[in-house]
Amino acid sequence: MGWMHESDTHVHEAALVAIFADGTQSCGSTMVDGVDYELVEVGRHQAADVAARASLPVRNRMAALGSDIALRPSAEIAGWVLSCDCASLSSSEVSTWTDPDQWTRVPSASLEDLTGHRVFAPDTDLDVNARPEVAEAAREVWRRKHLEPIDVDDEIRAAADARRNANAQLDAAVARARRLGRSWADIGAAVGMTRQSANERWRDRT
Ligand SMILES: [Zn+2]
Repeated sequence: MGWMHESDTHVHEAALVAIFADGTQSCGSTMVDGVDYELVEVGRHQAADVAARASLPVRNRMAALGSDIALRPSAEIAGWVLSCDCASLSSSEVSTWTDPDQWTRVPSASLEDLTGHRVFAPDTDLDVNARPEVAEAAREVWRRKHLEPIDVDDEIRAAADARRNANAQLDAAVARARRLGRSWADIGAAVGMTRQSANERWRDRT
């Protein structure tokens, strides 16, 4: 459902996740009798409490979803958090990254300011991820705060690996040169260092 990115070690999937004023996060949405509801994970007691106060169709839907899921009207959405599920490629482990800066829902189009994380969403159209300009603004934050630091770590790791491999290859070549009777001066010239530096670096290893 979200935007995907693959790093060396993880597959990342991000989206804006609806939250309510009390910080409860949505884990999906559904429609009952033409009204949008968010699915929220709550304790069993709280779910029973919500069900007791809900209309019969909502109560029936909640019963079908399980005992720890409650429905809350989507109209009550207060904002969104940018969240990424980071699934490990080598295990089944999934961690979650959440941007501490929340996106606030504002009540009119004139108050919308995507760079300031203020989004206008009428009760009839709360799927902000489907709005290209909102999605692009959120993806930009995701890239800058979450993916770029990971990618640059991958880059350093790859470069460090390459350097280790190159060093091992060089050591092996120098050892072979010594066995073939090449002088430290010959080896130094081939590597691009002085005779003495070559000698100091490989004397004990060959
Ligand atoms: Zn991630």
